Amino acid sequence: MSTPKLRAELDGIPTYKPGRPPATADEGGVPAGPAFKLSSNENPYPPLPGVLEAATAAAAAFNRYPDLACSALTEELAGRFGVPAGHIATGTGSVGVAQQLLQATSGPGDEVIYAWRSFEAYPIITQISGAASVRVPLTPGEHHDLDAMADAITPRTRLVFVCNPNNPTGTVVRRAELERFLDRVPSDVLVVLDEAYREFITDPEVPDGVDVYRDRPNVAVLRTFSKAYGLAGLRVGFAIAHEPVAAALRKTAVPFGVSQLAQDAAVASLRAEPALLERVAALVAERARMVGALTGQGWTVPETQANFVWLRLGERTADFAAACERAGTTVRPFGDEGVRITIGETEANDILLRTAEAFRKEL
Ligand SMILES: *Cc1c(COP(=O)(O)O)cnc(C)c1O
Repeated sequence: MSTPKLRAELDGIPTYKPGRPPATADEGGVPAGPAFKLSSNENPYPPLPGVLEAATAAAAAFNRYPDLACSALTEELAGRFGVPAGHIATGTGSVGVAQQLLQATSGPGDEVIYAWRSFEAYPIITQISGAASVRVPLTPGEHHDLDAMADAITPRTRLVFVCNPNNPTGTVVRRAELERFLDRVPSDVLVVLDEAYREFITDPEVPDGVDVYRDRPNVAVLRTFSKAYGLAGLRVGFAIAHEPVAAALRKTAVPFGVSQLAQDAAVASLRAEPALLERVAALVAERARMVGALTGQGWTVPETQANFVWLRLGERTADFAAACERAGTTVRPFGDEGVRITIGETEANDILLRTAEAFRKEL
């Protein structure tokens, strides 16, 4: 008996590996696992003031479909960023929007360029589209090699991802190099500035993608409510892009994909900006403390502008991740390359630092 025919593009597709959840309690005799999750770059804080109330109110009406056009959220974002509402396209997380961008631009025979290692979703969503991935290695200092990425553009190239700051290394692309790169990209190739961690950037030399996109019709900016805003579980992100890219995103969106809970929570989150900035400042201070302490222990830590740090541990990656689990935290190992450690609550960060110190002494 034959099985239903599936698209050959799906063969061998890498599956997204979520950060391992921490076990919360000792259930049915199963020993409790790590208490702290530093593996998915989530925000350790509860929802911002007013957000739970907005989501709860929306929950009372979930027998109804949500607002298809995400009108209130779109208006709020347009006002917040000073862009036309027609330049905003929402989706089920910015990964959802990134997948729509690929659906809108790329298919079999096309090429999609991105740095590697970078965000794990890029190879998966590219392969699903049928386009070929062109991976350009990071520099030895863990940065995007934008010259090599520009050199990699061919007539088949449809889309280039620039992850700024880069997940999982935390490194950034600065203004002058980005402008130089964009000047080299043909106007019919879409450049996607993935700014999932934008709120954590403190380096003034790192450009805001929303400023960059304004006079560049082939640039789209991706943002998310999952990281600094703390709405990872609600699945809402957005792109800012010129027409016709934004219009193409509206065409490729899953109808009613963004729930009313997510829409209303996102609006309330945008209105809670002072509390957001306080939390971001606290995490940025913790980031500086972590980087300082790890460097003091003798680790090489790439300069990070995100809510995580990267340790290139090579073949000791799995051992380090296991040591962290035994100590009560989960981190995110990547093969035999390194671990990404999310900046979490102070207690979790302290455990991580103690573990890293002990591990370092055994090397
Ligand atoms: C976390 C992350 C996203 C956002 O994912 P959502 O789908 O919005 O939750 C996008 N890009 C990068 C690089 C990320 O790390």
